[in-house]
Amino acid sequence: MPSIIDTLSFSDSYGSLGPGFSTLQAPTPLPEPYLVATNPYLAAECGIDPDQMQTDDFVALFTGNRLASSCQPRATVYSGHQFGQWAGQLGDGRAILLGEYAGQEIQLKGSGLTPYSRMGDGRAVLRSSIREFLCSEAMHGLGIPTTRALCITGSPFMIMREQPESCAVVTRVAPSFIRFGSFEHWYYRRDVPSLQKLADYVIRTYYPELTGAENPYLALLTEVTKRTADLIAQWQSVGFMHGVMNTDNMSILGLTLDYGPFGFMEAFNSRHICNHSDDMGRYAYSMQPGIGHWNCQALAQALVPLTGSVEETRLAVDNYPNQYHAKMSELWHAKLGLRSSLEHDSELIQSMLTMMESNRLDFTIFFRRLSQIKMKDPDVDVTLRDSCIDRPMFDAWINQYRSRLLQESCDEPLRHSAMKLSNPKFVLRNYLAQNAIEAAQRHDFTEIEKLRKILSQPYDEQTDHESYASHPPDWGRDLAVSCSS
Ligand code: AMP
Ligand code: MG
Repeated sequence: MPSIIDTLSFSDSYGSLGPGFSTLQAPTPLPEPYLVATNPYLAAECGIDPDQMQTDDFVALFTGNRLASSCQPRATVYSGHQFGQWAGQLGDGRAILLGEYAGQEIQLKGSGLTPYSRMGDGRAVLRSSIREFLCSEAMHGLGIPTTRALCITGSPFMIMREQPESCAVVTRVAPSFIRFGSFEHWYYRRDVPSLQKLADYVIRTYYPELTGAENPYLALLTEVTKRTADLIAQWQSVGFMHGVMNTDNMSILGLTLDYGPFGFMEAFNSRHICNHSDDMGRYAYSMQPGIGHWNCQALAQALVPLTGSVEETRLAVDNYPNQYHAKMSELWHAKLGLRSSLEHDSELIQSMLTMMESNRLDFTIFFRRLSQIKMKDPDVDVTLRDSCIDRPMFDAWINQYRSRLLQESCDEPLRHSAMKLSNPKFVLRNYLAQNAIEAAQRHDFTEIEKLRKILSQPYDEQTDHESYASHPPDWGRDLAVSCSS
């Protein structure tokens, strides 16, 4: 078998933007690298032979210890708003773009210092690399736009966080890692030619259908706003919380990007903050839709020099709330098995959320069980009812819901199967990730592979894996996850 180092031929389309957009930067090798996790399905999708994944050259390549001859490794520059404040220049402080392969950018995260590392060490810990690998694949399984993860390699090399931890490199794959902050970067430098160069590149490469638009920059903003609103509605619909929705973590393609202290909602609390470092709750679950809008406004501001009209730019981004509410309504309807949309549905949905919150119902389990209720057999509701503290409140809501179902023409088995496709059984609960991390720290990587497989089919029953769909154990309920990674 020829070595992957010789056969993987990268192109360098990002480099065509010119020197101001990135710096050539080789990864810093790590000692004694070993394979932690692989994603053979993604490898096959990218045209990489999955058999290559077990070779030493594969490990060397995706740790950054050896470079393919075609590779022009780069760290890209961007800026951004962090927690609502202008943060100035950021950039790939610990990520290196190897190049594009099969239409996808391939990036190593945790591969050493770059000119944008600021106070950081350029590394990522094994723990956060496993979380990113598993969550991006879980999101993909859920059908939510996201960057992907090809593999993780580890090393005994230790780095300091709250305590010393071993480090790892996660290989990420996406058509582009360009962020809102990539545009803000040139806007705040008042460098309109570079801003335009970037916008033209993005439109030409990723939104070719917009090239013929009357005002392509306005069309770009309109489309990114729509994708962002849709993305966040999808997050809300599965209880996903990103944790750090800074503009440098917002993808220009509308992908979920940069997995850090994310979480999936368990006991429902709309104000839940998954990021331990987010003292003010700026990125709490209920805040995400509004923050998505705020971030699109930051992008809009950066694009004004290109669109040529403040008023039209404002109008483009003002469509965000309508788009978000339309998408959210569509998703809630699907989750409730409602095909039609009736006048009082929004009250039914609102009272459901209030009822779930008062009873601190597990977000994922509630909807999955709701997918099984039968019109003629209220006994099926018993397990749901038993998990409630305020049972009269539950009864009031379920009666309201049952009467609403009577207004639907869809027959029951069809409704059940349709609802199961909108209400996943399996999500990446923090404690499941934690179990996989602790096993990996003992060099047992089987749990990562098992979770990856389960989470790739989250809507399937997978009755052999019932325990992965149950409530978290006591120790796993309020695991603290911070920005430190
Ligand atoms: P994040 O909060 O992970 O999105 O990162 C924000 C910025 O900090 C980005 O520019 C990252 O590249 C940079 N950064 C985060 N962690 C490190 C690290 N360990 N070393 C260097 N740069 C980092
Ligand atoms: Mg980031």
